[in-house]
Amino acid sequence: MQNKLNIAFLSIHSSPLGALGAKDTGGMSTYLLGMTEALGTAGHLVDIYTRAVAGTNSEVTVMSANVRLIAINDGLGRLNKYELALHTNAISETIEIFRQQHNNHYDLVFSHYWISGLVGQQLQAKWRLPHLLMFHTLGRAKNELCPGESEPLERLAAEKELAFRADLVIVAAQSEKERLLNYYSLEPSRIQVIPIGIDRKLFRPFSRSVAKQKAGLGAAEKIILAVGRLEPIKGFDLLLAVAACIDPAVDFKVVLVGGDDQGKDLAGDLKKTAGWLNLSDRVVFAGRAAYDFLPYYYNAAEVTVIPSYYESFGLVALESLACNTPVIAGPVGVIPELAKIPGSDSYLHLVAERSPALWADQISWIIASSPHDDPATGAGRLLKPYSWPVVAESFIETCRSVLNNKL
Ligand code: UDP
Repeated sequence: MQNKLNIAFLSIHSSPLGALGAKDTGGMSTYLLGMTEALGTAGHLVDIYTRAVAGTNSEVTVMSANVRLIAINDGLGRLNKYELALHTNAISETIEIFRQQHNNHYDLVFSHYWISGLVGQQLQAKWRLPHLLMFHTLGRAKNELCPGESEPLERLAAEKELAFRADLVIVAAQSEKERLLNYYSLEPSRIQVIPIGIDRKLFRPFSRSVAKQKAGLGAAEKIILAVGRLEPIKGFDLLLAVAACIDPAVDFKVVLVGGDDQGKDLAGDLKKTAGWLNLSDRVVFAGRAAYDFLPYYYNAAEVTVIPSYYESFGLVALESLACNTPVIAGPVGVIPELAKIPGSDSYLHLVAERSPALWADQISWIIASSPHDDPATGAGRLLKPYSWPVVAESFIETCRSVLNNKL
């Protein structure tokens, strides 16, 4: 087998170049950009296939060394996720025509999200290659864990079939492996845990006062930060209920960073709730922030709150910890794993119950004693397994095992 691998990534329903933190472009885009760049730097060749914007031609963009984004014009126009699922034949056919025209050859196909999984399954049959799949989120988990979610049966059925048919399902956290085992009784060896990396050059601790100034926040205010797409699953309703339980004598602000699904206006709903709770002056809806601006928010904050009902990983926790800003979270995604690392308790506060009073107590304690500026107790040691070169190397080892039929 050749030393360096050629890998086709599929990101059909969203392009990794979409604005991060908006609808359909969250952690999956961060993952695709970070992982492919690390693979390319290590000398592997990566093509990421996505759909061209409706009405534009197919286009190849060089993303980083050895990494290309291939946006395919499939002629299908603007389609939502569920419509896309009905056209996976046409999409895989267009990708195959493009591949033949450009004489591209691959060792493996690696699909992201269930829509890409359906396309990847067809390409696997055409190309006779191993198919690796990462769901990023599971429809069944959303429905079971988040009140009000109703992912359709088509998605649930597709995910079940894909879980059985992919050569290997990759998950980012042990909790997600356990969920898949529990849902589908898969062979444990068919699910591999490979975490997500973070960019430690971007997410690093620096002066809190500089960060507060850059983020437009008051120097004396204690900042309680939440970052994420404004989606019900992120549980920001709990955050507002928690804020209502914090002693109003404390000079605090809740800063919510993340984009809205234009069709749903969750920001509007949350603003109304903040009004009812008499918190309008305490909650800042900062909107979507550019990825490279986020370190200012994390460094400005006394604490980052992750009130999500469900996370398949939870990048925000690692980004915050990399800036030495403590995190309070429920037992979602990678949090229980991080909480097992000895010494993690000075930075990571896991609260199992969704009880506003309990979270408020913890937050009040953290903001009174935030260790951000003490490098001696830095959270960096929690993050060693989550560097992109380490994660990419582990992914390549997994690919080789699949190619050698060892998994
Ligand atoms: N993000 C961003 N701008 C925002 C909000 C979020 O760049 O306004 C990024 C955030 O830093 C993280 C990703 O989007 O890297 C969200 O990942 P996470 O795993 O928290 O959630 P997901 O979107 O996968 O549910």
